Amino acid sequence: MSERRCRYCEKSFQPSKYQPQQSVCSETECQKKRRSESRQKRLVTDEVYRQVCRDSSRKWRAEHPGYWKRYREKNPDSVVRNREQQQSRDRKQRLLDLANNNSALDLKHSAASIWLLNAGAEDLANNNSVSARVWVIEPLPPRKGPGREPCKQHRAGVSTASAG
Ligand SMILES: [Zn+2]
Repeated sequence: MSERRCRYCEKSFQPSKYQPQQSVCSETECQKKRRSESRQKRLVTDEVYRQVCRDSSRKWRAEHPGYWKRYREKNPDSVVRNREQQQSRDRKQRLLDLANNNSALDLKHSAASIWLLNAGAEDLANNNSVSARVWVIEPLPPRKGPGREPCKQHRAGVSTASAG
């Protein structure tokens, strides 16, 4: 069997004879990444798996009441970090929603330019479907509930400026 390169650490390794398709070496870190990646993929594609994961964490929480409350009390730094990460994910999702929101197409009639002045801008910059240009100056308003917001909610955080 020929050697190949691990797709995470890029070191050469010998694939197991039981796993001829193996593309990740046996290092603990690389295997951890592989498992986490395949779990993420499965969570996206497999409704049953998603349900099982939800149920099992619900069960775990029921058997360990107060665990996360105590954890948060003991680890205030992690609370702050998690909140920041969640806010960043929310912001990114709002920008993606905005970019995919066809009802914003009327903005194309504006001759103004889009400048996305926050962390999610990089993601939008690669989105070819955005041909309108608008100034986004304030942070977008927080999402109220699950699902899409009506367009006017998005617009609350968007102001247009005419081209100079
Ligand atoms: Zn590796």
